[in-house]
Amino acid sequence: MNSAAPIQTQDDALSLQPPLPVRRLHNFIYCQRLFYYQWVENLFEENADTIAGSHAHRNVDKPSNYEEDKKVALAEGLPEGARLRSLKLESVTLGLVGVVDLIEGGPEGAEVVDYKKGSAKRGQNGERVAKESDAVQVMAHALLLEEEGTRVTRGWIYYAEDKRRVSVELSPEQREQTLKALADAKALAASGHCPPPLVHDPRCLHCSAYPICLPNESRWWAAGFEEKVDEQQMAFVFDGWPVAADASRWRPGGHALAGAATTAPEIKEAPRPDGDAGEILVVQEPGAQVGQRGDMFTVSVKGEVVQKMPGHQLRAIYLYGAVQLTAQAVQTALELDIDVAYFS
Ligand code: SF4
Repeated sequence: MNSAAPIQTQDDALSLQPPLPVRRLHNFIYCQRLFYYQWVENLFEENADTIAGSHAHRNVDKPSNYEEDKKVALAEGLPEGARLRSLKLESVTLGLVGVVDLIEGGPEGAEVVDYKKGSAKRGQNGERVAKESDAVQVMAHALLLEEEGTRVTRGWIYYAEDKRRVSVELSPEQREQTLKALADAKALAASGHCPPPLVHDPRCLHCSAYPICLPNESRWWAAGFEEKVDEQQMAFVFDGWPVAADASRWRPGGHALAGAATTAPEIKEAPRPDGDAGEILVVQEPGAQVGQRGDMFTVSVKGEVVQKMPGHQLRAIYLYGAVQLTAQAVQTALELDIDVAYFS
């Protein structure tokens, strides 16, 4: 009799996964490596952005009445103007679970609203557009509601920094992208391979996993892995490093990831920032204001924050022409030993 343990296949690894939280799907679109850390490795770090995100949810996280009452109200059809807050939904069919921030009764059906602490991105004509990861999150919530038999006609993101809503079109393309991302995220989790870090990507500046990921250092070590590293416990950092012959290992389903490297970089020097002591923030937009919020320097134009930089990654701020620096920003620059230069 053969007493060997049954071999687990890729299909088993997929079917045995617990339902994927929608917020992890959001992580997957933001950065596949971040997704892997949080969903597979269960590693979490807070930073100013994640704490501010929790703050932006403080009102919608207060549930309205009871779960069952809410589902009954949904099944009966929400009258126009009615609101349900913080409703948890789960679908075995989709393998997805999520908490919808707000569901409103609209003129033609239910409307989904998710809250985000940041600001919308700008379209070609300067119009506000939902970020890709946020749009996928709204679509995922709409799919969960559809599984409950609720017709969803519109999606919205409320951006706390902008203090306004941005529409998300629940189009067939958006649906297809969301379902593909869900399948790809599950395949990545089942693969057991941690993807490589992004390369010189601004997303890393705002990433809570930065101290765990160490993207520059990881790339440096990966480049010299064969010669320098032998310890098994270090392997997961390099396991998914893309090589031309097997790039599909870290890009399940061929999911396109902007900014990801396709070959290991040739790095000859020890890891360090592009400058020896940090980045230089250059502001030359007339009327712009450089301020400070938490541990971030902010650049605002006409009252809107258009750029944020962590203070500890700056070594200098250059201001050209009619640009203001607030008193708080001056104080923080002094404390962090950041040079400030004015140019006419
Ligand atoms: S630091 Fe960059 S590469 Fe690393 S997990 Fe965060 S976004 Fe991804």
